[in-house]
Amino acid sequence: LEEQLRQSQKMEAIGQLTGGLAHDFNNMLAIILGNLNLLKRRLERGETRVGHYIEHALTGAERAATLTHRLLAFARKQPLTPEAVDGNRLVSGMSELLRRTLGETVQMETVLAGGLWPTRADANQLESGLLNLAVNARDAMPNGGRLTIETSNAHLDDAYAAAHLGVPPGQYVMIAVTDTGSGMAPSVVERAFDPFFTTKRVGQGTGLGLSQVYGFVKQSDGHVKIYSEPGHGTTVKIYLPRLVGEKPVLPERRIPRDIPEG
Ligand code: ADP
Repeated sequence: LEEQLRQSQKMEAIGQLTGGLAHDFNNMLAIILGNLNLLKRRLERGETRVGHYIEHALTGAERAATLTHRLLAFARKQPLTPEAVDGNRLVSGMSELLRRTLGETVQMETVLAGGLWPTRADANQLESGLLNLAVNARDAMPNGGRLTIETSNAHLDDAYAAAHLGVPPGQYVMIAVTDTGSGMAPSVVERAFDPFFTTKRVGQGTGLGLSQVYGFVKQSDGHVKIYSEPGHGTTVKIYLPRLVGEKPVLPERRIPRDIPEG
């Protein structure tokens, strides 16, 4: 009976999920169809100033593509290819991309620790994760603000590691992303890592950004924690295990496969 109950709860959750996704997708299709219809009519009347209909249709199509890419990436649960990574160089290598992502109203600062230990991680996934965090930070600072990315070596002792982070004690590389944005209520923090949990408007958020970060970090034997204060801002700290006995190599620059939208 318990198994049946669990199964039916699962089916209900899947039903809600697919219903929500179909709804999002429908909205994007409506934007595309609406604008293409307008475009057709205007062209039939011989009008030539139709660029904005094309732009709107393209935006809708791009959003739909982003959603399906992220769903596929989520469903595939891509196997990780861990390698030695220098966190400082990875962050530096992304700074142009991050700056462009943040736009003009958000200042960006990096505070990179000297003598940072190498870590072992899938560099692509780490880049995707940091980009997801930056997109969230940007969305939390619609009126501008500051994003800080900080790296440091972290010794986690028994008590702290076990009690607060749920990881074995030891040496970790920490990457913290801090924004001065809206912050999150405790009830939001509690659910933030859940796949498809979002507080954003339809078409703006997929609820997969933080779940990507969580999945990647956990698969890398690390930990991620959110510290947030409503009205003041948010810090997301990622801990990845220190790599010992192998020289860090910088992965070649790659654009993360799935374009995050939030
Ligand atoms: P999405 O950004 O698509 O909504 P995420 O999984 O990345 O999905 O985030 C889930 C939710 O957590 C967001 O909708 C938002 O409410 C909250 N959140 C995440 N990052 C931040 C942040 N830096 N500041 C405020 N809220 C945030």
